[in-house]
Parts: sequence; structure tokens; C-alpha cells
Amino acid sequence: MSTPSKKAIIIGSGIAGLASAARLASRGYDVHVFEKNDFFGGKLALHVQDGYAFDMGPSIFTQPFVLEDLFNFCGKKFSDYFRYQNLSVNTHNFFNDGTVIHAYKGKEKFVAEIREKLQIDTSRLESYLLEAERMYNDIGKIFLDEHIHDLQTWTTARIPKALKSLKWQYLLKSMHDYHQQKLQHPKLVQMFDRFATYNGSNPFEAPAMLSMIAHLEMNDGAYYPEGGMISIPNAVYKLCNDLGVQFHFNSKVERIILEGNKATGIVTNGKEHRCDIVVTNSDVFYSYYDLLQDKEKGSSIGKMERSTSAMIFYWGINKEYKQLGLHNLFFSDDYKEEFDHICKHKKPYEDATIYINITSKMEPQHAPAGCENWFVFVNKPAIVEANEDKVTAEIRKHTIAKLSRLLGEDITPHIATEHTLTPTSIQSRTNSYLGALYGTASNNKMAAFKRHSNVSSQYKGLYFAGGSVHPGGGIPLCLRSAKLAVDKILTA
Ligand SMILES: Cc1cc2nc3c(=O)[nH]c(=O)nc-3n(C[C@H](O)[C@H](O)[C@H](O)COP(=O)(O)OP(=O)(O)OC[C@H]3O[C@@H](n4cnc5c(N)ncnc54)[C@H](O)[C@@H]3O)c2cc1C
Repeated sequence: MSTPSKKAIIIGSGIAGLASAARLASRGYDVHVFEKNDFFGGKLALHVQDGYAFDMGPSIFTQPFVLEDLFNFCGKKFSDYFRYQNLSVNTHNFFNDGTVIHAYKGKEKFVAEIREKLQIDTSRLESYLLEAERMYNDIGKIFLDEHIHDLQTWTTARIPKALKSLKWQYLLKSMHDYHQQKLQHPKLVQMFDRFATYNGSNPFEAPAMLSMIAHLEMNDGAYYPEGGMISIPNAVYKLCNDLGVQFHFNSKVERIILEGNKATGIVTNGKEHRCDIVVTNSDVFYSYYDLLQDKEKGSSIGKMERSTSAMIFYWGINKEYKQLGLHNLFFSDDYKEEFDHICKHKKPYEDATIYINITSKMEPQHAPAGCENWFVFVNKPAIVEANEDKVTAEIRKHTIAKLSRLLGEDITPHIATEHTLTPTSIQSRTNSYLGALYGTASNNKMAAFKRHSNVSSQYKGLYFAGGSVHPGGGIPLCLRSAKLAVDKILTA
């Protein structure tokens, strides 16, 4: 008689919840995913309105090999589930003075563009890009791929090499000061400072070490998933189904059942479900505060600085703008002032940097003929405000004014249809505390260590995967957090 398989319950079907489910199912676990929504994917969702299709959350896809690793681990052929392509231009960068810089894929082409548009000697930029790559390979990989909360991680052979590469300025200087010293030209500094926002941080506070994020896009490059970002959770959901994972939608988990020092199940819709392993993909704040009813630990996690949130306008645009590409940035003149507004929760900044993602540039069927689907994103503090409607209206007004000025015409009559996502709606849709996009901020040099580990030190059988725990937010990191959590389960 074969031994009955162990049962695992996953709370939440965000990308890390789905990836944890697939990994465990591939190793023989009987896996059940409980999701409060009637859809899977969490922040990776699709919004369809009046003939326009919008990816609601992430739009920038880097490090596809991390996703491929999941399919390999599960013994499935990646290309049977998911296809993607290289981008020739990572971003189209627009400045208020009319300068337009194309961040081409490939160091040589990008460096040539900078030389031509900014008329500068690019040797500093070239050495910066090499340094970002080296920093990522020597140090970054440890912080992303290892169990950094375990003492034994720090006694392995790789560590002396990493520590040798670690220069004091990576910790002591802010990312901005480092960029100022290395890159010097204000436009270049601003373009590279922006990478702090890839984990919701502030370049004027985050340590210089975060400049390694630039390596992912500027050396390795950005990619486009065929069908849009929604193809990522779709592929992993199909993988889960092929491996026998069972999904329970409209099932908000109310609490995790604890017996002594062990997690033994969950309660949803008033019903108990017992299991051997619980993986929570819910924000770590809610995992403690609500699911474990540990108000003290929950409150202390709640006090940690959040990553930024955002205001997103999904606009169906009834014309085509040939000067725009898939990823477009419209920078502010004063990034320091802009981040002061965001971090000190001041009123909306008039000249805020705007990011526009237009997937109909890649797939025309995402918008009616001759039209475009604009995902218009403005950084915002992670707060749930009583007067959010008023703030939204103000940001909308500033955004329209700035885009109209830079695109040379009033865009208002071209907004054919509209939908909005705010910190409050991000919080209610995905249970992300205060609507933070990437869990806690990385502004502090100890942030990586303060972020919760993937395994509970208090309760046996309880694990954590997702953007609010180690190694942090963003799709590649969430996929890694699932890998690290499952690694802990399989080696327990
Ligand atoms: C607007 C926006 C833009 C972004 N841009 C990028 C980008 O360009 N590139 C990038 O890599 N990343 C980006 N991110 C970040 C990225 O989306 C997230 O880091 C990642 O998707 C988070 O995945 P997760 O596994 O933590 O789960 P989440 O997506 O947070 O989902 C958690 C799931 O758990 C469910 N859940 C929570 N509590 C319970 C409960 N009690 N019971 C049952 N279910 C529960 C929720 O309903 C949800 O489905 C962006 C995010 C947003 C919102």
C-alpha cells in the first residue's frame, strides 16, 4: 500500500502562491489553493473594457529564466506553456525639455544613443554597467537566491568572494549619490535612479547597492510575454492544473489553525480544512494580524516602512501615438522634490514622473483598430486616504496636463474609456497592506534582513511566499520566494 501524500494548503493565488502550489504538487503533495477572489493571479490580473484589454498590475518582465526554472523543476516543457520575446528598446524616455532617449537593448547601442543625445563621454556609463553586473553576480545573487536568515548561508565558500566585492560606498552612499558620482549627467542619473522604484524604494534613501537592479534591464534586457503579462499567471495556473492542484475560489481564509507550536490547517467560510503544511501568500502583515491573530507581531510588521504604491489610470485611447512604444517614461524636472512629495505624503506633485505601458504596440488586438490601450502609472505613497477621490482627481488633472503638453495636443478628447486603480483598491483586491506594490521598502540598508523569512521560526509547518517576504516584491523575486519556501518544506 502506498503512503498517503502529505496535504499542503496555500493561502492565496498570487504568482508566489501559484508557483509554491506547482512545486509542491510536482513532489507528490496533495495541494489545495484557497483564494478569496473569483480569479487567480492577485496583482497580475486582466481588465477588459469596451474592446480594450489591460494588464492591471506588472508590465515589466525581466529574468524569464526564473520562470523557466519553475517549469523545469516541475518536469514540464516551458515552451509548451509560455512564449516571450526580446524587446529591442527597453524604454522610451521623454524629458520636459524635449529630449527623447531610447534605452536600447544591448550595451553598445544604448551607449551610442547616450553619446548622441547627451553629447557626453560614455566611459563612466560603461564602467557603471560593468560594475552593476559584477555587483549583481557577486552579491545580489546571495540576497535573492539564498536563505539569508540562516546562519549557515553566511559560512559557505561564496561569502568571502561576495564580501570582497562589497565596497563600503554600496552601503554608506545613497543610490542617488552613487549615481551622481558615477554617472554625473543629470538625465542619466535620473534614468538610473528610477530603478529604485522597481522595488518601490526612494533613490535618495535606498543604499547604492540597489543600483544592481539596473543590470537586469540595461545589461540583460526586458522581455515581452506573448499575450501580455496575464500569460504569466495563466501559464502557472495551467501548470498547477496539470499537476493536480485543486483550487477553491471565493474562499477567504479567516484564520490559520494552530495546535501547540504547529500549523495544522485553515478556516474558510466557517469550515475547517486540516493539512500538514500551510504556505501563506497573503501579505505578511495580514498573515500575523488576522490569520495567526498575533496582533503584537502584526503591528510591529505594520510599522515597517512600506514600498510605494501607485495610482493607475487605464485609458482606452481612440488614436495612435507613433512616438510611443511599449514602455514610456515622462520624467519630472526635479526627482528629489518628487520623492519628497511621495515619501513625506505631501499633496500630489504636479510634474510627477509618468509611466505608460501600451501592449497594443505589440499586440494590436488589445485595442480597437487605430486605438491604443494606455496603462498610465504615477508613483504614490502606500496609504489609504479618506479623501482618495479628491487626490485621484488631482493626479488625473496633472497627468493629463503634462501628457498633453509633451504630446503636443489635449489628450482629454481621446480618452474613450477609463478605469482607475488606487492604493485602497489594491489593498482590497489583493490584501496588500496599505496598497504597497512590493511589501516593505528597501530604503534601509538592513531591509533585506528585516524582511520576513520564508519559514516560520515559531510554528512548525508554516511557510511564507510572496512579495512581502524574502527576497521581496516583483515577479522574479516572488517566484524565488516560492522556490525558497518549498526548498525549506522539502528539506525540513
Ligand atoms: C500596479 C502594479 C505594477 C507593478 N509593476 C511591476 C512590474 O512591472 N514588474 C514586476 O516584476 N512587478 C511589478 N509589480 C509587483 C508585482 O505585481 C508583485 O510583486 C507580485 O505580483 C506579488 O505577487 P504575490 O505572490 O506576492 O501575490 P499577490 O499578487 O499580492 O496576491 C496575493 C493573493 O492572495 C490572496 N489572498 C490574500 N489574503 C487572502 C486570504 N486571507 N484568503 C484567501 N486569499 C487571500 C489575494 O486575493 C491575492 O490573490 C507591480 C504591482 C502593481 C500592483
